[in-house]
Amino acid sequence: SPRGRICLVTGANRGIGLEVCRQLGRLGHTVLLTSRDPASARSRARELAADGLDVQPLTLDVTDAECIGRAAREVERRFGRLDVLVNNAAITYDTWQRAGTADLGVVGAAMDTNVYGPWRTVQALLELLRASRHARIVNVSSEAASLTGMGGGTPAYTLSKTGLNALTRMLAAELRADGILVNAVCPGWVATDMGGPGGRPVPEGAAGIVWAATLPDDGPTGGFFRDTRPLPW
Ligand code: NDP
Repeated sequence: SPRGRICLVTGANRGIGLEVCRQLGRLGHTVLLTSRDPASARSRARELAADGLDVQPLTLDVTDAECIGRAAREVERRFGRLDVLVNNAAITYDTWQRAGTADLGVVGAAMDTNVYGPWRTVQALLELLRASRHARIVNVSSEAASLTGMGGGTPAYTLSKTGLNALTRMLAAELRADGILVNAVCPGWVATDMGGPGGRPVPEGAAGIVWAATLPDDGPTGGFFRDTRPLPW
């Protein structure tokens, strides 16, 4: 059923992730609002719950396998399945770097959060997603990852999102038989802490992610989208 799904969003204490929680909650879904900071998860979830939404806090740091494991066990105990996973958490929009001179330590840290983070999270939650029979995974990516238009700017961020897009393709192919739809979504340029001022309103950026999180069973998998429309890889 499209209503009453169990949804988990990473990096949901601010920015696009927080708004995705709000929109999924308004659709009537149960939302696990996760943050690496337990207090932030609790206070943001309390705010959304005060608006009548079924939003519950959970601690999840995408760089910490132990922490992800604890979160997965909690989802298992409380719900026995997971219907929607939104891999939203990310770092390092490195506008100050160029590929030829980039600090590879910074690149490695971005890869750890932005690629291995979603990968670890999917691995830890995979049996719960399989148990859903209709699960959706949304990897929040960026048009910066598109190989067709790639320049030398934001090298850590760009490499990490290109890796995330590749992971999207692999998981989509592998999990199709489980009824799991896996897509990458670019929210566009959005006015958050990462995007800075001047971007589009956060609800507009979040809407395309929510669309991919609530696709019907015959919806696309292994795609790259912005505002429901395909982007070039
Ligand atoms: P923000 O920087 O505003 O928020 C990032 C979120 O990720 C925060 O909640 C942050 O938590 C969390 N986070 C960072 N590291 C971790 C971690 N190790 N574990 C768990 N959570 C973590 O970014 P946006 O909301 O703008 O971005 C959301 C997504 O959209 C990202 O994937 C981004 O790459 C993508 N995107 C954004 C664009 C934009 O213009 N804003 C454009 C294209 C893509 P904390 O508060 O603890 O730091």
